[in-house]
This record gives sequence, C-alpha cells and structure tokens, in this order.
Amino acid sequence: MKALDILRFPDPRLRQKGKKVIQITPELKTLGEKMLQTMYAEKGVGLAAIQVGQPVRLIVVDTRPLSDENESRYDNSTLKSELEKGIKQPLILFNPEIVEKKGQVVFSEGCLSFPSYFAEVKRAETITLTALNLHNQEMSLTTDGLLSICLQHEVDHLDGKLFIDYLSPVKAARLREDIKKHGYPEGARADSRNL
Ligand code: ZN
Repeated sequence: MKALDILRFPDPRLRQKGKKVIQITPELKTLGEKMLQTMYAEKGVGLAAIQVGQPVRLIVVDTRPLSDENESRYDNSTLKSELEKGIKQPLILFNPEIVEKKGQVVFSEGCLSFPSYFAEVKRAETITLTALNLHNQEMSLTTDGLLSICLQHEVDHLDGKLFIDYLSPVKAARLREDIKKHGYPEGARADSRNL
C-alpha cells in the first residue's frame, strides 16, 4: 500500500476544518487504513485526515511503543497509564469529539506536519471521547497518558488548529523562523512525540 503524502506546515490546507462523516463508506475505510500505514511509515503515533489533505473528521492513533528496528509494536502492557493499557489500539475514529476534560498536563509535543520540531504544550490530563468506529458503531473511551494528549492533538487538527497555536507569540514566531531557516530533515525518525 503506497503511503500518503503528509502536508507540512505552513501548507494552508492544514488550516481547513474537517467535515462531519455522515456515512462510513468503503472509500473512507480505505482512507483510514492508508492513513494508519502512512503514520507507521513516518514513525508517528497519530495522524488526522486534514494532514493528508482530506477535510473529513477522521483520525488514526496508535501510542503503543515500537519494539525495535523491525517496527512491530509492543502490546499495551508497556504503556505507563492503566487507562491507556485498557484501550485496544490502533484506533481509527470518525467524528471524534472530546466530551469531558479533567486536570492538566504539560508534554513536549511534535507533529508529523512539523517533523523534528517540538514544543511544550499544556493540555487536559484525562479526557472522555466519543466517536464512530470502522463498523459505524458509537463508542466512548476515557484515558489519560500519551493517548489522551495524542487524541486532543488530533481532534485539534480536524478544526484546523495546530500545536504551535498554544505557544506564546514569541515562541511561535521563533519556531516559524527556525522552520523557514532550516527546513525539515530528510527521513522519518521514531519519536513518541510525533503526534
Ligand atoms: Zn499533528
């Protein structure tokens, strides 16, 4: 399966808003599967349809750590959060919506649309999210840990929001300048912060 191209900041299409999915068609299922393969190939843990130029409310996530060079994933038991361990991954989610937020956590985030750049972002610690799964079933999950941060980051993408929007104007300007000056490196590097 050929990987999809991931848009990179400052591509204006990253500011589009995703349309709500009314019906999960075979084409949308294929898009979700392709996005997951692309995310693995780029060594990220989350990807939103907006990032591959498709303005629909679809995200894919797998926060389980990579085991080694052959890129097979560990089972959930290596995750630190008990809530996160209890959730079957990978997740392919349509119309994800965060319905409850609790607590606060600061994490150094990256993004597949900003490869190799990271910044500290403050988010809710624990979230409850509702969505439709691949089988058109309504589901709900509550988690903290990396999965919570990742889901908040991906849902933001569907509203055209990027992690740099959380930075102070000075920090955001510095990051933009760095990207303009140095560009993005060749080749993907595995990093659990690639959201
Ligand atoms: Zn991102």
